[in-house]
Parts: sequence; C-alpha cells; structure tokens
Amino acid sequence: MERWGHLTVYHLPTFQAVTHLWIDRDTPTLDTHPSLSVDRFRFIRIAPNEWFIMIDRRRAMKTMAVGVVGLASLLPSLGSSLLTGGPQHATAQTPIHLYPVPPSLMLHSSEGINTDDLNGFLPVLIRHLQHDGYQGFTYSQWLTLMMQDQSPPAKPIIVSIDDLTMAKGGPTFSTFVAMHDIFIANNFPITLAVVNRLDLPQDPERWAIVRGWVDEGNVELASHTNHHINFNNRDGSPRTDLTSTDYDEEIAVSALHIGDTTGIPVRTLITPYGSGFERSTQTIHPAVVKQCQEVGIKYVVGLPDGRRPIQCEVVRDTATVIYLGRTKPPTGNKTANGVKFELNLWYEHDYAPYLIH
Ligand SMILES: [Zn+2]
Repeated sequence: MERWGHLTVYHLPTFQAVTHLWIDRDTPTLDTHPSLSVDRFRFIRIAPNEWFIMIDRRRAMKTMAVGVVGLASLLPSLGSSLLTGGPQHATAQTPIHLYPVPPSLMLHSSEGINTDDLNGFLPVLIRHLQHDGYQGFTYSQWLTLMMQDQSPPAKPIIVSIDDLTMAKGGPTFSTFVAMHDIFIANNFPITLAVVNRLDLPQDPERWAIVRGWVDEGNVELASHTNHHINFNNRDGSPRTDLTSTDYDEEIAVSALHIGDTTGIPVRTLITPYGSGFERSTQTIHPAVVKQCQEVGIKYVVGLPDGRRPIQCEVVRDTATVIYLGRTKPPTGNKTANGVKFELNLWYEHDYAPYLIH
C-alpha cells in the first residue's frame, strides 16, 4: 500500500506532537494509528499545497486537533504534491501550528440600529457577549498573543467600528465618543477604522482625544484608507484605474499619518466595502499587499471569508500579510440578539472546532 501523505497530530493548545498518521494513496482515508479510531474528518485548504485536517473530536480524539505536515494535494486536479516521493520525504517536513480566527464584528457609527437607539443597543450587546463568556481583543492584541505563542483563549472576539475621521467637520465624531465610552466603561477593547481625509483640515482636538484612547491601551486605530476607497471591480478583481500613487496615498500615507500622530504604528488595514480581497482566488490584491509590507501592516481585514486558521509560521514571517474576514449585524435583525446569533455561528463553526478544551 503506497502512502502519500503524512500528518502529525498535535495537542492543542500546547502544540505538543502526540502521534503520526499516514494517508494511503489508493483510498482517501486515514491509515490510522492503531490507538485511534478515526471515522470522520474534513479537509480545509489553507494554502495551495497545505491543508488543515479536522478530525471529529466527538468520536475520535477528544483532546486532540490535527495539524497537517506537508500533506499532498488531496484532489488530483490541484496538481503538485509535497510528498510525491512517498514516506521518505516525511521527515523533512516542518510542523505547521495553527491559530483559529476569533469572531470579528463590524459596526458603524450609525449603529443606532432599528428600534434600539445607541444606548439601547450597545450596552445590551455587550451584556450578551459578556454573559456568553466572550473576551474582547483588538486586532493587534490578537497578533501579540500569537507572536508570543500564548494559548488561544476559549472565546475571544474582535469588535471594530468603521469610518472614524478626525477631519474637521466630520459629523459622526460625537457618536464615536459615545460608542467608545460604552465599550471602555465595560472593559471591552475595540478597533477603530480611521478614514484620514488628509485633503481636509484635521482637527487637533479630535486627534488629542483619540490619542488619549490609544494611550490607555484598549483602543487600536486601523487604517480605513485615506478616502474610503473601493479597491475592487464588480467581480472582485483589482481595479485597473488605480495608480501606484493612489495605493500609496490610500494605504501607506494613511497608516503612517495615524502612526506618527499617535505614536503607535498601524498594524491593521480595514478595507472599505471589504474590498482588496479576491474571493475566487482567496488572495489579497497584490498592490494592497505591497503597500502593507512597506509600512508593516500585518492584517488586511475585509468582510467575506477570512475565517480559516492561521499558521504560526505565517504570523512570524514579517513579509506575510494575513487576510481576516468580519461579520456584521444581520440584515433584517439588526438587534443585539441578531448580532449575538451571527457571532455564535462563527464561534461554533469556525473557532471552537479548532480549540480543545
Ligand atoms: Zn467604511
């Protein structure tokens, strides 16, 4: 029987290797270790030649998750395989450790939302989340956790609020102040997505207020581009009418301005309209990646997809930019309960399966 894939099984969150498994070439089932009875597993593609394998925890391995070690492509049509030579190559593989992606919620300053006004909505939402055991993080706090190899917490959540501007005359600043105060009074970290509008005069008083929030430690400022630009054509491909100067102004100049003004370098680009990410290829637009690399942005945050586990090696590689998705208050049920429902779906389908309790 020819073996064509090799897995190492890890205990999460310690990432201790527990055992090794082989996969047959002839039958796409696990040639299981005698001590394991694995009867159901699913494959999730995380890179062209890398797969994450979930083994049904309920049945087989209640205390383990599985990381792929250089697994060959599972579908012949996908082409190249890392292990075409058979098991002798297996020892050369490097383990891939994975972090799940926390549920991530997008809000706007307009989130007075339907029947609830702001004061009705936000405190109720926060109460729901805290009651359900969620623990707030900013994107950069989550990055730090991964960089420091800390165990992923049971129920993290990232809340971001879009379209903050410190340009003079922007009408929603007072709403941001109110939203900030509610979150922080509840000890709930938030990420604020800034539209610089450097073509307009900036309000130093607003910047001073926001700098104070950042200094207190539970607020991260992300770039939301200089002009709230849409990077996408209708089909999700990159726009062809944008020049390298446009990209520079929208991303690098925006991020550096925020970093210079607050003293904290920007690590997160939250793209307007969830653009800058091509769903059909699951890739960030190359011009966006280039800008992010130049100024040290690690996350591009959009809306769709972006829920797959992150490899530790990717986190530590300074050149790699990670795409993360978000969810939003559901259309037709923009209430605290509706939001909670969306977040629980994410938690149950995309986060918890990769956590071992
Ligand atoms: Zn926006």
